[in-house]
This record gives sequence, C-alpha cells and structure tokens, in this order.
Amino acid sequence: MAGKRFARRVKDIDISGIRKMFESAGPGAINLGLGQPDFDTPSHIKEAAICAIREGFTGYTPGPGILELRTALCEKFKNENGLEFSPSEIIVTSGASEALEIALACLVEPGDEVLIPDPGFVSYKTLTTIMGAKAVPVPLEEDLTLSPQKLTEYIGPATRAFIVNSPANPTGAVQSPEDMKAFSQIADDHNITMICDEVYEHFIYEGRHVSPALYSDNVITVNAVSKTYAMTGWRLGYVAARDEYIQQMLKIHQYVQACANSIAQKAAVAAVGGSLEPVITMREEFRKRRNVLVEGLNSIGLDCALPGGAFYAFPYAGDDYPDIVSELISSGVIVVPGSAFGSNGSGHIRISYAASMDDIKQALDIMEKTIRC
Ligand code: PLP
Repeated sequence: MAGKRFARRVKDIDISGIRKMFESAGPGAINLGLGQPDFDTPSHIKEAAICAIREGFTGYTPGPGILELRTALCEKFKNENGLEFSPSEIIVTSGASEALEIALACLVEPGDEVLIPDPGFVSYKTLTTIMGAKAVPVPLEEDLTLSPQKLTEYIGPATRAFIVNSPANPTGAVQSPEDMKAFSQIADDHNITMICDEVYEHFIYEGRHVSPALYSDNVITVNAVSKTYAMTGWRLGYVAARDEYIQQMLKIHQYVQACANSIAQKAAVAAVGGSLEPVITMREEFRKRRNVLVEGLNSIGLDCALPGGAFYAFPYAGDDYPDIVSELISSGVIVVPGSAFGSNGSGHIRISYAASMDDIKQALDIMEKTIRC
C-alpha cells in the first residue's frame, strides 16, 4: 500500500473538527459538541417505519423518491413556506448532506468558486473542494449574520454559487426576511445560484424564516427531516428547485444514491404530513435551554449574544479559546472550537444545547470552575 497515489483534493481534507471532539469524549463526559436533537423520533413516525417493514416496503424506490412523500413535501412547502413546487421539482435525498452534494456537483467544475459563510457549516468548504472547485469564505458580520452587501463584494467571474444557511450552524444566527430577499436578488442579478440550507427552519426563537425561493428561481432549497423531527440517523433529506436544476441533480443522485432509504421515506411521509406539535414542543424546550445557557455563559465571562435560532450558542472566548476548549474537554465537557467552522470562527466556541437541562447546568458549573481558575 505504501506510496499509493490518492487525489490531492481528498488527501488534503482535514477530519471534521466536530468528529474529533466527539471521538475524544470520555465515558461520562457531557457532550455539548453534537448537532442533533436529544429527543426521540415521535412515535407515529416510528410506527410508520415499522409498518413499512411489515409490509415489505424494503426495495428500491423511484430515484427521486416516492410520489407520496414528494406530494407531502409540496404541501409542506405550500403551507409552511408559501412556495409552489410540483413533485417533479423535488428529489428525496440521503439527508441534507446528499442534497448539498448533488447541488454543488451539478453546478461547479475545477476553477469555479462557491461563496460560503465563514464561520459556516463544515461541509460547505469540504464538498466544494471535493468537487474540485474553490470555496471562498465570506466573513460574517459582528452580529454573526451574512451581509448581502459583503457577499456581493466577493462575487467574481468564477463565482457559480453561494450558500446561505439560516438559522445557522455554528452561530445560531437568523437572517432577516429582507436579507433573504436581497440574497435572491443577488442570485438573479449575477445569474448565479443560491443554495439555501434551511435544516433549522423550525428552530427559531426570535425572528421568522423566509425562504428565498419565494423571490427567485435561481435558488436550490436544501432541507431534511433530520433536525426538525429528531431523525438525524434516518438519513432523509430533500432538495427542491426548478426543473432545469432537478434534471442535472437527478443524474448524480441516481448514481451516488439510487434512491433514499425506502423505510425512512415512509416515515418521512408521517413526519411531514403530521402535526407540528412535537416540533413545537422541542422548540420550546430548546428555547428554555438556550436562555439558561446564554445567561450562564455571560455570567462566567464568556461573551455570548442570544442566538435567534438552531440549537447552538457561539460565545466569544478570546485568543485563549483553544486552551479553554482543551481544558473543558479534560474536565468532561465536550465543545467545539469555532475555528473548526472557518478561520473567522477563531476566538469562538460552539456549544450545542441539544442536551438535557441537567447536563447544561452541570456543564455551566464545570465551565465556571475551569474558566475562573
Ligand atoms: N446543514 C447544516 C447547516 C447542518 O448543521 C447539518 C448537520 O449538522 C446538515 C446540513 C446535514 O444534515 P443531514 O444530517 O440531514 O445530512
């Protein structure tokens, strides 16, 4: 095996900072490093999956996903986002991760550029790099949002796409409805594509979510049931876009995935077609935890603005943040250094509050002792 040649663009990829933290968690550690709801998938969704297995719904499905699910997703888009899509404008994917992958794969080639928020979700840079294109980081503003005006300054002749994520990982920031409209206008003005990652759309505590696809056809909307319905392991996402995009994305999807998991698709019909009640219950629990965490962080001297959405706090810890992260991990609290999300995340720490209130309070006690001594 020695001396085997591998693609440089893959060899050079760093192992995700989040995974490193996850793997370094000792037994009994409080894990505030993970981006997944700590709730169980609602029972009616699990029942739908059990039923699918009993009925032998275990074979390949149509590549874009079962019509029942794509129809339910059209209803969801209409009722929750005011968007009109037909089932043929939706592809059901293996999580939002695959949705991002096929969106980027159909848009870029070597030499092209994709503008990404910095700090931003780890996959944006890596997937762009894997596609052979260049990710161009756009620094976030002081309030941790992406400025449409700043974004425009980074657009050049090689720019093919830009990614917006609201509410955002790792910052919890929510873009305003005006910003979303401005982003869609930028896509139209420059004839480039906006990829809008909306996986946290239901976890907003201040502000409201507006889908930019309302204003432009140059938008690829990426979403998933992963976070919304506590279904991260089911691997079920979706992408919605106008036909021109779908035709290209389908070509990639059919070879990399064939189809999304058949059982998870049936479960997603129950999720998307069911009541939002369990989601609202989760959201309100997250809101309480966010308030306790952010107040606690500020009281121990970690400067933290109140994040409007998702389930992450992103306090500023200063130049010593790598030492603080290491000390917290040695003391049994797993958090992620902000630099894992881009160089502009340096100085910050990402703390997930998708953990029980008891864990959050205990972690705050440990943080207070660690940071004060
Ligand atoms: N987009 C964002 C902003 C995320 O935070 C994540 C997961 O953490 C994903 C996409 C990937 O979601 P999925 O698990 O559905 O692939």
